[in-house]
Amino acid sequence: MDDLLSRVERPSRYLGNEPGAIRKDPAQVSFTVALSYPDLYEIGMSNTGLHILYYLLNQEPEVAAERVYLPERDLEALLRDSGRPLCTLENRVPLDRVDLLGIQLPHELAYANIVKLIRLARIPLWATERSDDDPIVVGGGPGAFGCEPVAPFYDVVVLGDGEEAFPALIRAVRAARAEGLPRRELLLRLAALEGCYVPRFYEPVYDERGLLQETRPTVPGVPPVVRKALVEDLEGAFYPDRAIVPYAYTVHSRVGVEVMRGCTVGCRFCQAGMIYRPLRERSPKRILDLARCGLAATGFDEVSLLSLDTGDYTLIDPLTKELLDQTADQRVGLSLPSLRAGSLTDDVIRDIRRVRRTSFTIAPEAGTQRLRDVINKNISDEEIFETVERIAQNGWTQLKLYFMVGFPTETRADLDGLIDLVLRCRELGRRHVRRFNCQASLGTLVPKPWTPFQWDRQLSEAEARERLSYVAHGLRSRGVGCKYHDPKASWLEGVLTRADRRLAPVIAAVEARGGGFESWQGRLRVDLWREVFAEHGIDAEDFLRARAPEETLPWDHLSPRVTKKYLLGDRRKVDRLANPTTFDCRDDLCSGCAVCFEGDVRNRLAKYGEDPLGNGKRLPLALTSRVALGHGVARQLEKQLAGEAPVRDQAAKAGADALAAKLRRRRPKKPGKRRWAVTPGAPGREGPAPAFLPERVAAEDEAASAGEAAPSAPGSAATPAPD
Ligand code: SF4
Repeated sequence: MDDLLSRVERPSRYLGNEPGAIRKDPAQVSFTVALSYPDLYEIGMSNTGLHILYYLLNQEPEVAAERVYLPERDLEALLRDSGRPLCTLENRVPLDRVDLLGIQLPHELAYANIVKLIRLARIPLWATERSDDDPIVVGGGPGAFGCEPVAPFYDVVVLGDGEEAFPALIRAVRAARAEGLPRRELLLRLAALEGCYVPRFYEPVYDERGLLQETRPTVPGVPPVVRKALVEDLEGAFYPDRAIVPYAYTVHSRVGVEVMRGCTVGCRFCQAGMIYRPLRERSPKRILDLARCGLAATGFDEVSLLSLDTGDYTLIDPLTKELLDQTADQRVGLSLPSLRAGSLTDDVIRDIRRVRRTSFTIAPEAGTQRLRDVINKNISDEEIFETVERIAQNGWTQLKLYFMVGFPTETRADLDGLIDLVLRCRELGRRHVRRFNCQASLGTLVPKPWTPFQWDRQLSEAEARERLSYVAHGLRSRGVGCKYHDPKASWLEGVLTRADRRLAPVIAAVEARGGGFESWQGRLRVDLWREVFAEHGIDAEDFLRARAPEETLPWDHLSPRVTKKYLLGDRRKVDRLANPTTFDCRDDLCSGCAVCFEGDVRNRLAKYGEDPLGNGKRLPLALTSRVALGHGVARQLEKQLAGEAPVRDQAAKAGADALAAKLRRRRPKKPGKRRWAVTPGAPGREGPAPAFLPERVAAEDEAASAGEAAPSAPGSAATPAPD
């Protein structure tokens, strides 16, 4: 491959000898793993999962784990023309000669890229056509729980945490190879491992109407439902204390430390919040050690504390303070990429402000309190406004707000509420900073597998465009910047997310005709996808419909240990008159998702009392903004609140007060004023949901079918195209 690099753009992304990369002598290793991300180097290099696996697998002296990413179009064409396979970065091992090819499943718009990568590896695309000598193709990552559309391309898909499952899988492959087992026997062995799904041993069964009846095992001994692998205690799990320093530009050039995994807030649209449960926090001492070592090994000037919502980390205040104190002389920046409004304290906001003064981002997701209750985003208007005032008081002048449209029960009033909320945020910010500005980013809900909204229908492209344009116009006409995600991309994402194995030939055909990189702005070719859907006789819109509760879903046999019963119960709360929210099980009682119902699996929170920062000091309770409670403590507090148990000590008393305040806040909000008793398009209801702004959608459809230009959506004439 090296001889081709002088003929391509940005060859630095293919060098493979960056500081921090591990290049083992091929003669000294007996097993080669290629870890790949189905996108360009710039994107894939920032992936935390692959970063962990790379250093974890390379700990084994006889195993070489090397990286590979998709090449840009220029190198792709050269490889195809020359008939040579794509190679790993470190030792240029051709992918058809590695022992195991890991291809991350990051999101659904990467499906064509996965096909592209396997084809460039020059190994058979369909798993059942591979011989004993071909690499074992293994998937994993957040997309694993809805992987059916690409399942026929994988030999194995690992569900859940990889720190224990991946090494176990490699040990099993090495042992089977040493015994000379044929491929099928080897895969049968892998199918018995925790979290290992071997798609070829399962077949979907459809009825005469094309409805999925079940996905059943085809050989005896493989589990009918594959449960995810789970690392019970993140504190003891492997995490690298160094990183690769790229020569070329990448999305993130910084030391990333995962502070916790899982989230217990329970937002009903959020797949990550369900599939990564339970919540497991690392200790502040370990996080500080990892950050210190990472900075020393790489020379980066930024530490990013990674999780689904870092503001909710139990000891976030003392952690950020200590981290910035320890690195004060290096002027290290602190980035907390995922923050929930309401989870931030003054101290954290000040700490972030100490070094970096870029824009601040919060994600209210919905514009009204009613709709935020429907999606179980447990933040109030007051918490949002309080956060905005705090950041303005601390000198920020830019606020980014993220929202989605298309939630069940959404009405025009909610969209008007969204506009009002953004305007109110700007007004509050300007009370403190005259130049304070807001920018809104909008997306469309894609109801994901293993979420309470998985039974809900997704908006059509026209409906989504209508709502997005409405909000964008409302904001831009008042001088607020607004960008929205291309509804065509959301439409395709929805189809790919909610589809089953029948889509695999479509994905393969789209890639063969030049598809790929669908998540890149300007590269999405929806017309090509529609054309191929039609040729294969597939009604893509059908995948977006509402599903009945009793319907078999394509991902039912891939379990994140959260039960379908729990999700359905949670979804049904939306339809009831009183408070539709579910409490956060982090510091209240268990809400019953079932992840923790066996063994020693439970939420594990960082603690106050055990020398948390490694400096021999015990933290005063007042240093933190929240009270960490285990299940037992929470139950005890419930009793104390009910007067059934005495309050024994000050810490428990403080906890009791905090819990009481929390419960007070969660009382139903003016149930008498609630106007939405039933949900249009709710699971099990007959017919399609009524269209939003029906007159506009109908007019647009009519115009489109008559071959005329569709009437311009509100605001579209005065504003640029969506991003
Ligand atoms: S089983 Fe209970 S405590 Fe555990 S994550 Fe689920 S709801 Fe929370």
